[in-house]
Amino acid sequence: PMAERMLKFVSVAQSQPDKRPAAERNADFDEIYRAFAVGKAEQQASRCSQCGVPFCSIHCPLGNNIPDWLKMTAEGRLEEAYALSSATNNFPEICGRICPQDRLCEGNCVIEKGFESVTIGAVERFITDTAFASGWVEPIRPPVERQTSIGIIGAGPGGLAAAMQLREQGHQVHVYDRYDRVGGLMIYGIPGFKLEKDIVARRHLYLEESGVRFHLGQNVADADGEGQVSFATLGARHDAVLIATGVYKSRDIGGPGAGLAGIVKALDYLTVSNRLSLGDDVAASESAMLNAKGKSVVVIGGGDTAMDCVRTAIRQGAKSVKCLYRRDRANMPGSIREVKNAEEEGVEFVWLAAPEAFLGDGTVTGVRAVRMKLGLPDASGRQSVEPVEDSSFVLEAGLVIKALGFDPEPLPTLWGQPDLAVSRWGTLRIDHESFMTSLPGVFAAGDIVRGASLVVWAIRDGRDAATQMHRWLENRAAACAQAAE
Ligand code: FAD
Ligand code: SF4
Ligand code: SF4
Repeated sequence: PMAERMLKFVSVAQSQPDKRPAAERNADFDEIYRAFAVGKAEQQASRCSQCGVPFCSIHCPLGNNIPDWLKMTAEGRLEEAYALSSATNNFPEICGRICPQDRLCEGNCVIEKGFESVTIGAVERFITDTAFASGWVEPIRPPVERQTSIGIIGAGPGGLAAAMQLREQGHQVHVYDRYDRVGGLMIYGIPGFKLEKDIVARRHLYLEESGVRFHLGQNVADADGEGQVSFATLGARHDAVLIATGVYKSRDIGGPGAGLAGIVKALDYLTVSNRLSLGDDVAASESAMLNAKGKSVVVIGGGDTAMDCVRTAIRQGAKSVKCLYRRDRANMPGSIREVKNAEEEGVEFVWLAAPEAFLGDGTVTGVRAVRMKLGLPDASGRQSVEPVEDSSFVLEAGLVIKALGFDPEPLPTLWGQPDLAVSRWGTLRIDHESFMTSLPGVFAAGDIVRGASLVVWAIRDGRDAATQMHRWLENRAAACAQAAE
């Protein structure tokens, strides 16, 4: 009977997998949470009260069937839990690690009131890690192989989720990416201490074994050439195309001294650090410029990217790491859990402060900043910020990292496709039912449609786009057959 196993939140306290102590984790780029000890995941899963209306699932972008896989886990039926969990999520072991659970599933778990929420993310990760270790993760073997060929631009979570779903239907799937590795921001953006690189590499292998063909080091552009392929060529080569290119244009900051050496973009910085972790050769000049070792580091911004930069700088052996954000702690976009992790690791937050000028002669040596104060909420409900008069102060800085967010690249121009419709923010316009762009047979999903978002939303979009692409191809085939009669 259920009562025996579940509802244990009254007697079993919440316990996340152990976090390694800050001194230990600052010395490497490995994940900071250990795996659940044997028996611990089952015990934690048993705290779920099996809600009739599970708010955890409602607030999961994938609508994961959380109460059922928690129950199976509590009962030790892990292979069934894996089957159920992977039916709605292409990468449960990744979401379990890097979803901001406090804002999604766990933040809406109803036993939170009075008792702490079920540790949903950690259990989700445990189920699929166990499945891989036990050999339960079988490559996709579609019941029929179809002749239809699909081109996907972008090997991030959006493109990869779509690739899996389309392979399930037996389509021939080709994924193009300008990077030399599969994973998008999961491989070169998100640092190893949140998501270890071999977790992403394991999925690359799985997708290859499932028959997905990768064309890496191929930049989609406006003309064919060495290391690049034109968008028009892809259109001619495939029956349908999915654009899942993410957003990569860094927002910039001006002001006096903004052009000094030593002021770098967050993604350039994180990519080099990730490449070094992966064992790549990085040019010495580049790795010296983009390395925090021994330097006073100032990171500008308050989102997840800024949190990843400050924590990377600590691990590289920076002299000091300060995070400058113009609003306060309560109004920052980054996850509270990540701010806490950063503080434990030795990062200093300078709230309510914005850069005014960069100091130095050739190379940056300092940042002049000004104090900010919060004003009245604007039309969007967000409090405005304004500088406090005569409040300038100077921070020493040998490396300044700009983490102010990302915008889409101008795809219609870059690809010579003036008819590819974009919004006023530059994101691709799609029909929200069919996922099709303004070009027939061309679909889009992930950050390039939503603007910078989350891995779990890219997976959701990739799945939905794949469903619509399959439907469109089927309808087209049926129409052709009818015309031939
Ligand atoms: P991407 O992951 O960006 O993948 C797009 C791919 O397209 C890339 O591989 C790129 O090389 C390729 N591409 C682009 N243009 C071309 C072209 N012209 N030709 C060929 N290939 C091209 N989300 C979370 O949920 N949790 C987190 O903890 C988290 N941390 C983050 C940390 C950082 C530093 C950053 C930058 C983002 C983080 N995110 C996080 C957000 C998350 O990574 C993205 O929302 C998600 O990866 C978007 O998926 P996507 O498939 O749309 O695009
Ligand atoms: Fe929670 Fe993300 Fe997993 Fe959904 S996918 S259950 S939001 S961790
Ligand atoms: Fe279980 Fe919490 Fe979900 Fe309710 S909201 S089903 S208690 S995990």
